[in-house]
Amino acid sequence: MSGGKSGKLTVVGLGPGEARFLTPEASAALNEAEALYGYEPYLDRVPARAGQTRHASDNREELARAGAALAHAAGGAQVAMVSGGDPGVFAMAAAVIEAIETGPEEWRALELVVVPGITAMLAVAARCGAPLGHDFCAISLSDNLKPWELIEKRLRLAAQAGFAMAFYNPVSKARPHQLETAFDILREELPGSVPVIFGRAVGRPDERLRLVPLANAHGHMADMATCILVGSVETRIVERPGLPSLVYTPRRAGDV
Ligand code: SAH
Repeated sequence: MSGGKSGKLTVVGLGPGEARFLTPEASAALNEAEALYGYEPYLDRVPARAGQTRHASDNREELARAGAALAHAAGGAQVAMVSGGDPGVFAMAAAVIEAIETGPEEWRALELVVVPGITAMLAVAARCGAPLGHDFCAISLSDNLKPWELIEKRLRLAAQAGFAMAFYNPVSKARPHQLETAFDILREELPGSVPVIFGRAVGRPDERLRLVPLANAHGHMADMATCILVGSVETRIVERPGLPSLVYTPRRAGDV
């Protein structure tokens, strides 16, 4: 390390959108950093501060970005890596630790702090009630880092197990038909009445929420800025006069 100064890497969750979702801990970590790393649209959410350098990268270069931030911190700098939502949910914290596991020995001696953020599924759930009020799972529908067959297997087993589900990375240009296939699998396992929530750009000015029964859920209703929540057979909709319906999954399941 240069000059005896010890570096630090903080992986910071920015939450789903606007600054009001930043935790005080995340704000403090961003403020302390001498250098910020991250995918450009996330870096753009962080207000500029004099004396702080910015290192934007492409979304697909996660491991390279992690290595660059670690090398910078190993040189003695206070470095922050930003992530949307929570950095541990389909995001940079795991990439950083993978880089530490496979990288130079000196990276293991670095101080590493992970600062949690509000993840997309929790932001969407809060907007419509309590759809994740009982057991649930989160699945990324991207087949960049796992085979599509494994995703299909997990969807089917999660439906059979009675979990509510949150889907991240629901579609991309490279795989326009897979989300429809995912809904078809769920329709084989679950009643068509199960509520499905499409939460798009939640916490941003262009936020949009849509509630449909599984029977009417289709691939074209989501884009990459959408997090989808699928209820379980227990999930209920409470209608209210002149107010949006509340979707919730009761705290009890089975014979209790
Ligand atoms: N670490 C992030 C997830 C990264 S994966 C988190 O914890 O939220 C990227 C996926 O997250 C997107 O494809 C989308 O499914 C979801 N997502 C991120 N921000 C969102 C937002 N504001 N509203 C809805 N979904 C969002």
